[in-house]
Amino acid sequence: MTRLSFTKLSRYETCPLSYKLHYLDRLKSEPGVPLLFGSAVHAVLEGLVLEHMREERVGALSEDRAAELWQEAWTKSGMSGLDVFREGLELVHRFVREQGILDHHDVLAVEKEFRLTIGGFQVIGYLDRVDRVDDETVEVIDYKTNRQLFTREETDASLQMSLYHLAAQELWPWAKKVRLTFWMLRHGLRQTTERTAEDIEGTRRYVDTLGTTISKAREFPARLNSNCIYCDHRQHCPAYADALQGKREFICEDTSDLEAVAKEREEVARLAKVLYARKGELEGVLKTALKEHDDLVLGGVRYTMFKTSKSDYPLDRTLAVLGEATGLDREALVERIVSVDNKALEGLLKELGKSMDRPRVNLLKAELEAIAKKTHSPRFWAKEVA
Ligand code: SF4
Repeated sequence: MTRLSFTKLSRYETCPLSYKLHYLDRLKSEPGVPLLFGSAVHAVLEGLVLEHMREERVGALSEDRAAELWQEAWTKSGMSGLDVFREGLELVHRFVREQGILDHHDVLAVEKEFRLTIGGFQVIGYLDRVDRVDDETVEVIDYKTNRQLFTREETDASLQMSLYHLAAQELWPWAKKVRLTFWMLRHGLRQTTERTAEDIEGTRRYVDTLGTTISKAREFPARLNSNCIYCDHRQHCPAYADALQGKREFICEDTSDLEAVAKEREEVARLAKVLYARKGELEGVLKTALKEHDDLVLGGVRYTMFKTSKSDYPLDRTLAVLGEATGLDREALVERIVSVDNKALEGLLKELGKSMDRPRVNLLKAELEAIAKKTHSPRFWAKEVA
């Protein structure tokens, strides 16, 4: 039976060439800092929770122990740089605080291996952690050190989470419900999702089809994307080298030919993503250098860091000052200059969602939607279709 893993499937989905270089050509990979950092943080969290379980503790995890484990993981990883070290230390400390009290009885497994049979394939993987929520629910937790949060769509469509659902069902057959959580360690947020029986049937079919596609593939095209700068085989990738040099394949000669316009637009968009990510990587190096210099002049360009500022005006005092100066009453001023911060409102609704029942929160959301003033502006949108 052919073996697959989420990592294999995902690598092929992201870029068939990267899959070939990694699994077929078995080239030595050069993991970048994000990958090393993620592995080191995972090792610390795994160690902390495992120790808690072994010692059958009920209580908070230890911040001191987290720091010790981080020092060990850091040394093993081969990373360097005080900034990254501090970032990791802060992150594992925050995890301990956010975890709060942990009862060892509630943790069912840490780094649990699973093997699923899907069609003609065996899918192998590991679950970071699985908790018992109640007598009929388990929660699969996947720690993430990503800088960017997932969108709701990405969480709900995540193949990784669908496979974890299947694994949890096989490993804990008593669980009627499986909660799937990405614990976003940098943000202190847990992004949670679930799967229906229909979703799972779709996942089985998809994995079987993708597995067959991979095993029959004879060509492995490069698929440039914004994560190429993190690709562990970018040094061996001719497409990436060409993209960094801005090499183009197609230029539309006739803008009345919309097919040609779209073709060039997609090529430019792909290159722009790669180059933009590379720009960010280079700026990161310059920003680090600027920590030791007020400014740098390189190749005739001056680089410096400056602070931007943002002002927030306290409501009552601002209205009082304006009322005195303009003679307008509070109501008129509120109408003209006050609106509710959307992010703060979303945060409040999220908090309320924990204590109020769902229908009441939905009703409240609908009422707020009805009174919101909406503005619309045209936005260009492009997405690949099958
Ligand atoms: S650098 Fe990008 S295009 Fe090249 S192998 Fe890696 S992911 Fe694929």
